[in-house]
Amino acid sequence: METISTDVFSIMDVFSIMTVRTGVAQEAVKVEKMLAEASVFIEQNTRAVCPHCVSVCCINRHGRYEEDDLRYLHAAGLSPVPLDEGIGAEGGAAADAAPCMRLGREGCTLPRALRPFRCNWYFCTPLLEHMSGGPQRPYRRFMALFGGLVTLRGEMLDECRRIERVQDAPASE
Ligand code: SF4
Ligand code: SF4
Repeated sequence: METISTDVFSIMDVFSIMTVRTGVAQEAVKVEKMLAEASVFIEQNTRAVCPHCVSVCCINRHGRYEEDDLRYLHAAGLSPVPLDEGIGAEGGAAADAAPCMRLGREGCTLPRALRPFRCNWYFCTPLLEHMSGGPQRPYRRFMALFGGLVTLRGEMLDECRRIERVQDAPASE
């Protein structure tokens, strides 16, 4: 009898994880779509501001993924594009501070959905001033969209960690 109830419990556990996984995947895909939508406004502004920049923020150190970036990419079914592994080992801090390997003539060569999140939420002061100083309606729409995106991404990552904790927990006898 005990064995049966334990089995039933573990089946329900698996079912619950699968349900959460499906929810996480849907949220991750929604985050990807929201990023694509936000990208239009961001790029309208970076196109105007970044070509005049004297201190470009894109360096190798910023181009590396964090664990949460990998969680999101995995959940959305996207493949991460790692920076060249040799950079850090060969050049240490100097290479870390060198222009990002993904930086092309027209800016970042990586699709926005595949960039480390810090690349997507970093807005320097001149960029922020340009965004907020333009027409107010698109700016407010962008701010609302981006706020929703950050919240949804945070919830999705919490769920990912919850799944990881359940999977890492020692199996009960
Ligand atoms: S976001 Fe700001 S710091 Fe980065 S390249 Fe553009 S203007 Fe320069
Ligand atoms: S936005 Fe692109 S080029 Fe800039 S640091 Fe991030 S990955 Fe590198």
